[in-house]
Amino acid sequence: MKKAAGGIEQKYGIGTTLCVAACAGQAWREKKPVWDRQRCFKCGMCWLACPDAAVRPVDQGFYDSDPERCKGCGMCAAVCWNDAITMAPEKV
Ligand code: SF4
Ligand code: SF4
Repeated sequence: MKKAAGGIEQKYGIGTTLCVAACAGQAWREKKPVWDRQRCFKCGMCWLACPDAAVRPVDQGFYDSDPERCKGCGMCAAVCWNDAITMAPEKV
């Protein structure tokens, strides 16, 4: 079996058709980030921290996430120093 970066066994391959299909629509995501504009200082730390480039700038210098790219990992919420991002349940 092929080894991916870090020695992880690569069963299907990052970026292959199977990999992309598995992520399509993020149907498995359990949580999603929700921004509170009252607490956001527009510093961009969440944008820099997202490992999937899912945080995107929107109107007036604020940010939100692209639901097609977001994996729900919570990194954006973890780095926000003013608690402007809450990880909310995907389905309510
Ligand atoms: S890290 Fe927090 S304060 Fe900074 S832009 Fe993101 S949400 Fe706003
Ligand atoms: S939850 Fe993770 S993948 Fe989604 S926007 Fe935040 S850092 Fe990016």
